[in-house]
Amino acid sequence: MTSIDNHILSFSEGVSIPQAPPEFKSGFIGIIGRPNVGKSTLMNQLVGQKIAITSPVAQTTRNRLRGIVTTPDAQLIFVDTPGIHKPHHQLGEVLVRNATIAIDSVDVVLFVVDGTVACGAGDRFIADLLINSKTPVIAGINKIDQQPANPQNINESYQQMADAHQWPTVKFSAMTGAELPQLQTLLIENLDHGPFYYPPDLVTDQPERFIMGELIREQILLLTREEVPHSVAIAIDKVEETPAITRVMATIHVERDSQKGILIGKGGSMLKAIGSAAREQIQKLISGKVYLELFVKVQPKWRHSRVRLAELGYRVEE
Ligand code: GDP
Ligand code: MG
Repeated sequence: MTSIDNHILSFSEGVSIPQAPPEFKSGFIGIIGRPNVGKSTLMNQLVGQKIAITSPVAQTTRNRLRGIVTTPDAQLIFVDTPGIHKPHHQLGEVLVRNATIAIDSVDVVLFVVDGTVACGAGDRFIADLLINSKTPVIAGINKIDQQPANPQNINESYQQMADAHQWPTVKFSAMTGAELPQLQTLLIENLDHGPFYYPPDLVTDQPERFIMGELIREQILLLTREEVPHSVAIAIDKVEETPAITRVMATIHVERDSQKGILIGKGGSMLKAIGSAAREQIQKLISGKVYLELFVKVQPKWRHSRVRLAELGYRVEE
């Protein structure tokens, strides 16, 4: 595993982007789908490194995150999007709006569905969004490593949807990597000739601080339940690098005192567990020793405030 740190450093130091050969293909691929179908898992598997956080809890991914795959013949830039669903509050609206923008601003849409359950209302909601756009669509049926009880019905439900719009389909497992080379070939076939958009060794466009925050949020999603996860936002306050250790100070913003209580836990046990698990992940990210200090702060109703969303680093697109 290579360190994202190095890639980002070399990028900011202005390593030149090579001239693409004439037959080189490149473009942006939007990974679209309802929550929990495996979009982030897919992106991590394709780029060969964990840049997007994943979890069994829906709505894990908030910001748009790009994952970059460069082969001798092509550069594919994957845009991970939040799962699309009907909005309930300000953050939900931002999520859907950003996903809609993502559909229109990419060269190809990879519409990911969960092959262990039949096509449902959530998938059809997205299919309707997609037919309003001119972007070509490929339907990707994920989780083929899991054998469902009634594969015939499930297959037919997705085939019907794909046939109705003449979308090519491809089946794979984001988790095991099975059939992903085939997916990649099909995606490259659907791209036009183009330049290198990023240096060939870069795997993501996001700064390391952002990914650190996401790794902390991931542990909160994994270790706490229900109430807390959707109302946290992480701010990385300070990163101090010394040759021996990297010190990271971060604040976890929550909406209510009760959530703060859950996050801190009995005698600080929960915060300690979150901190030590996140610290291990961040150590892998930067390939070095990390000291992580976490604070918890109550920030009432941050989800409803666009200003707060922007302050906490969420892109609120107009
Ligand atoms: P997203 O919300 O679409 O980004 O979904 P995630 O990538 O966060 O994945 C949601 C859940 O599905 C996680 O628990 C993953 O481990 C699981 N998952 C993703 N891809 C696969 C797969 O190919 N097979 C199986 N069995 N589970 C998967
Ligand atoms: Mg995701």
